[in-house]
Amino acid sequence: MPISRRNLFAVSAGLASIAVLPDSPGAFASVPAAKTPVPGVIRRKVGKIEVTALLDGYMEMSAALFKAPQEEAARLAREQFQPASPRLSPVNAYLIKLGDRLMLIDTGAANLFGPTLGKVPQALATVGVKPEQIDAVLLTHMHPDHVGGAIDQHGKAVYSNAELIVSEADFRYWHDDAALGQAPAAFKPFFSGARAVTSAYQKRLTQFSGETEVFGELRTAPLPGHTPGHSGVVLHSGDDALFIWADIVHHAAFQFAHPEWGPAFDVDANQAAASRKRAFDQAAYDRILIAGMHIPFPGFGHIASDNGKYRFVPAEWQYVL
Ligand SMILES: [Zn+2]
Repeated sequence: MPISRRNLFAVSAGLASIAVLPDSPGAFASVPAAKTPVPGVIRRKVGKIEVTALLDGYMEMSAALFKAPQEEAARLAREQFQPASPRLSPVNAYLIKLGDRLMLIDTGAANLFGPTLGKVPQALATVGVKPEQIDAVLLTHMHPDHVGGAIDQHGKAVYSNAELIVSEADFRYWHDDAALGQAPAAFKPFFSGARAVTSAYQKRLTQFSGETEVFGELRTAPLPGHTPGHSGVVLHSGDDALFIWADIVHHAAFQFAHPEWGPAFDVDANQAAASRKRAFDQAAYDRILIAGMHIPFPGFGHIASDNGKYRFVPAEWQYVL
């Protein structure tokens, strides 16, 4: 008799119940579910450079945040086996080991968006790195989920020996009282957050603009729009390269299909969409590995371009010795 999908499922469910439910409680009964998240850490090599993806946690991102026809948004979410809304958006940061120097790219949100975030310090501890060992913190832009972890609840620098590296355009924007005055009420706290971080690091603050070389093997890549100074970071080592493009994508299911869709918190939505298309084209043309702060953890992958349609191809897991 041919087995239909429905009765195949029924048969295996029956078998499973026999396997896991013995008559008397066995070893399984004494191991309760832990119910706490474990630090998310994954490492890979880019040439000789070691890059460690660190999961800060997640935040809920409503589909309505995107200026998009919600029917099409729901269709795309379904196509990717996701609920229509909200999406649990990961927040990633990256640790880069350049010789004997350690650079952190973004710091996570700390407690600014609730208890589901703020795990970067635990992720660092998992790989044996203490905050005082970080030599530099480079901020791709100064939104709270990228800068929040740079200071503690008293406003003190968490990375006590680190140089803070920020883009000149972002520094200027977040310190501009006129921009603060014009910002929607919900986004005004972003300004005080950015200011608190730069003031905690004011004695060791470096600003960059455009394409700037940092520590020899790393270059900043301006991708303005999401914020005025929003920047990626490009690493080159041997024949390998990595393009950490920060917040080019906030919702993979939506934005690879519709690069013109941006979240409501883009400072300049048109400029952000142009930067997004440029980043997609560049990544597809160069076949370069990318990493994104809101791409499902660990956020590594490639961009394929088929007749003008973009597709994200998650990177194969890598074992690093
Ligand atoms: Zn952002």
